[in-house]
Amino acid sequence: MHPIPEAALTLISSEALTPYSGMIPGLIAGHYAFKDCHIDLMKLCQWAGIRFVCSEVHAINPCDKQVYCDQHPPLRYDFLSINVGSQPALHQIQGAAAHGHPVKPIKRFFQDWRHWFESIHRLSYSPRIVVIGGGAAGIEILLAMHYAMHRTISMQSNFTLVCADQQVLNSHNKQVQDFFDHHLQSLGIAIIHGKRVVSINERQIMLNDLTLLNYDFAVWCIHAAAPPWLRESGIQCDEKGFVRVDQYLRSISHPDIFATGDAASFVPVPLPKAGVYAVRQGPVLVRNIAALLENQPLSPYRPQRHYLSIITAGDRYAVASRGSFFAKGKWVWYWKNMIDRSFMARFNPKLPGGSQ
Ligand SMILES: Cc1cc2nc3c(=O)[nH]c(=O)nc-3n(C[C@H](O)[C@H](O)[C@H](O)COP(=O)(O)OP(=O)(O)OC[C@H]3O[C@@H](n4cnc5c(N)ncnc54)[C@H](O)[C@@H]3O)c2cc1C
Repeated sequence: MHPIPEAALTLISSEALTPYSGMIPGLIAGHYAFKDCHIDLMKLCQWAGIRFVCSEVHAINPCDKQVYCDQHPPLRYDFLSINVGSQPALHQIQGAAAHGHPVKPIKRFFQDWRHWFESIHRLSYSPRIVVIGGGAAGIEILLAMHYAMHRTISMQSNFTLVCADQQVLNSHNKQVQDFFDHHLQSLGIAIIHGKRVVSINERQIMLNDLTLLNYDFAVWCIHAAAPPWLRESGIQCDEKGFVRVDQYLRSISHPDIFATGDAASFVPVPLPKAGVYAVRQGPVLVRNIAALLENQPLSPYRPQRHYLSIITAGDRYAVASRGSFFAKGKWVWYWKNMIDRSFMARFNPKLPGGSQ
């Protein structure tokens, strides 16, 4: 909307239709259509006069200032911004790279779920679904799958949540935790607290106390990991492999590289991996790239201390959580729906000639 004069901008993304994670539980539950929760990057770039490269980056050489993509010649940059997000950290769990479905990349997860969901009527027994990870994403995905299963095909199923902490939603207030504890139990969903998955094969999950769980569909919603090529590129990263950035969102080792969102490790203060930070960093990133090109001083990014989370409960019902604030009800879901839909509308520009 505010082009930087004489700057040629290129967006590289592995997907042309990029998902908005906040609406994905609603897509699984059937409240949204696919196009409601995906941004058409090709169209957005066409509208903004930006070159779009649909390819997966697998390496960066910060000395030669080159980005290496799959099936595409290397791309040279003067300034680079890394915003590749995160994925569940599966590397320390035996068998996890081959079994179960990581919630990210969302595209693959959604395809796997749809495929499995459409085939379960062939099963002669109640399917067993295990979600690993008791944070907001795990709970929302579990409740959305449960809702889809019970309301659309009214099939008997067994759901289990494995949560490494003693309590679900560890970073939320007690009222939020109690609500979801009771809600999950009232739906007959088993919760295993304080246990970690140590290995998985094609049929069974093993916990750290050697308990075995049989499963038909398992979902990984555990803590986030960075793509390994970030550290391998020689850019300074934290112990988990995320790019260490200063108060200006600039790499502490390479001043011509920025990083934001889940891919960044904000050195001034640790931040949770949440979309609200990624979104709020956007305007600061734009300002700072423009300032660098124009030899102007950079602006610091000042993260908020608390942020509002709205956690959906499968049906059109949700819980709001911010610090010690707690609210629940259908109205909370409709409130989130309004926030999400108006957020998505900002990325659906009208192209000249009236085509949408
Ligand atoms: C089910 C679920 C629900 C969530 N709900 C919320 C919520 O309600 N509120 C909230 O604050 N947070 C929520 N989160 C967390 C949120 O998804 C992340 O914090 C947020 O998406 C981070 O934004 P990002 O731009 O850094 O990364 P992402 O949104 O993950 O975007 C990364 C982009 O980079 C692309 N990409 C990745 N790797 C490459 C590569 N190698 N080459 C090229 N392109 C690449 C991807 O295709 C994607 O388009 C949720 C997460 C999940 C899983």
